[in-house]
Amino acid sequence: MTKTEALKKYFGFDSFRSFQEEAIEASLAGRDMLMILPTGGGKSLCYQLPALLKEGVTVVISPLIALMQDQIKALQDRGIEALMLSSVSSPDEQNRVYERIYNDGSLKFLYVAPERFASSRFLEMLSHIKIASFVIDEAHCVSEWGHEFRADYRKLHLLKERFSNVPIAAFTATATPKVADDIIHALRLHNPKLLKAKIFRDNLLLSVTKRVGNGYKQVESFVSQHKNESGIIYTFTRKESEKLAVYLQKKGYEALAYHAGLAAEVRSDVYNRFINDEARIIVATVAFGMGIDKSNIRYVVHMSLPKTIESYFQEVGRAGRDTLMSEALLLYNSADEVQKREFIKEIADENYRNNAYKKLDAMYTFAVSSACRHQYIAGYFGDHIEPCKSLCDNCTKEKQEQVDITRPALMLLSTIYRLRQNFGQNYVLDVARGSSSARILQNAHDRLTVYSVAKEYSKKQLEAVCERLFDLGAIVRGEHKVLRLTQKGVEILKTRQKLFIDKDRYTPQQIKSIHAEYETQQMEEYDIALFEELRSLRADVAKRNNIPAYIVFNDKTLKEMSIKHPKTKEEMLAVNGVGEVKFERYGKEFLALLLEKSAT
Ligand code: ADP
Ligand code: MG
Ligand code: ZN
Repeated sequence: MTKTEALKKYFGFDSFRSFQEEAIEASLAGRDMLMILPTGGGKSLCYQLPALLKEGVTVVISPLIALMQDQIKALQDRGIEALMLSSVSSPDEQNRVYERIYNDGSLKFLYVAPERFASSRFLEMLSHIKIASFVIDEAHCVSEWGHEFRADYRKLHLLKERFSNVPIAAFTATATPKVADDIIHALRLHNPKLLKAKIFRDNLLLSVTKRVGNGYKQVESFVSQHKNESGIIYTFTRKESEKLAVYLQKKGYEALAYHAGLAAEVRSDVYNRFINDEARIIVATVAFGMGIDKSNIRYVVHMSLPKTIESYFQEVGRAGRDTLMSEALLLYNSADEVQKREFIKEIADENYRNNAYKKLDAMYTFAVSSACRHQYIAGYFGDHIEPCKSLCDNCTKEKQEQVDITRPALMLLSTIYRLRQNFGQNYVLDVARGSSSARILQNAHDRLTVYSVAKEYSKKQLEAVCERLFDLGAIVRGEHKVLRLTQKGVEILKTRQKLFIDKDRYTPQQIKSIHAEYETQQMEEYDIALFEELRSLRADVAKRNNIPAYIVFNDKTLKEMSIKHPKTKEEMLAVNGVGEVKFERYGKEFLALLLEKSAT
């Protein structure tokens, strides 16, 4: 069987996506590999397809049980044998799995958590069977410089030490060049094939807006433009996730809270209702979503600033895995950054702490940046791309009236300077605005020449000016969040260079979804009523088979059916996402529905 035949037969797809063929070839040639491809890029197929063409078992190391379960379900549903060994299986279940590994030649995949490699029984078993390859999923967990370091992943160097002839393929969506290097060394990869897509998700519309108050009104306005679409809203704390969920419920939305503090049954119930399209909105802490393979998530909202660009990119990447246009909205406030710095302060190890500060600074600069959002993220991961032109708020924003902020900017720069670059933003603003707080009087800062120079400006305006100064690289935050001037800041101060800001940043406005235009474009192309009927049949089939809806067929496949109106088995197989196995299992029912519709 050729690669393309296997693609159609097992996965029902007609063509490979970028980098998939190269990855499969490297794997078939027995090479080590590191693949960095954005979330939703199709990494699983890169190890699953070659595994089917190779002899032996592919051992997949994955950080989360829920993630493994999803993958196994999806494989079994395509008629492929896959098992997992996890800490939740009872000794009996484990014995049965071992039995099958030894005796069942048809087993193709074994999923395990990294902790498993501490077990001598497991290692013993591996030395007796034919292993086709090792796969490290979510490989950024290997690196101490990554954002989700896991000590058990670090120990995986034993793979090469013990099984030097078995190729290793490592996959991640997010790795800076430093992290990529670290992964290669930590796993002892030998002359690995490197496959790295430029970090750019061309179906994600990114926007960032200042949060007004608690941001509820903004979220409400946003979700009202996404009725009947699935979305995730990330909050910083558990309590906030519950509060916001209740708020949205009162406004008539099917919103559910999800966080690590809920009982396991509640959590899995919420998860399943979301996966099966029974609840549209999940309001969650970041405990939700790692490895989630719901393909029709149409938006992700962040209620406050994430800690790193890595986590932000991974979280927004959960939207639009079916490649249809999707949207990400980040609401932030300058207090978020200060709050997050407080947490970082607690990190004992100096190296880690400084690393965490750097990551947070990059995240904050992203939020206040007036450059292309996609370009900024790509740059962070070491890639250069052109401005997206149409996929982010900064690129699509109409040319704004410019407000001259030279005066207040110079006032703030001198205040920072006069305060010997030793105070945080709030203090700087208070001095510049002439507050008579006890601390200022105690420090005798009311006697500085800059005291109350900027009293004619509101705090909000001065905050906007500060953001612009961050954006321009004129100031940075140092230890203990003090504001410092950079070389550039000093120059601005000396030359009294003119500075401008977009009018809407100086006076924040209500957000508007940039999704609306795309939606109308896409809507014209397919039969909405038919699509809805196909969706309800899918919900029904999913329920009967006790599997998530997207595993039956994803939205994109259903949309294609509603455009092409297939009337025969052959026409059905020509639809992307319909393979032989799935056709036999579910496709027939869909074909029957389509025939019935075209008859009437
Ligand atoms: P990743 O692990 O890179 O985040 P997945 O492997 O989960 O992404 O794939 C994301 C989605 O893309 C899945 O729904 C998968 O079925 C689909 N997909 C992967 N490869 C193809 C392809 N060649 N054609 C169409 N869809 C694909
Ligand atoms: Mg994946
Ligand atoms: Zn852009």
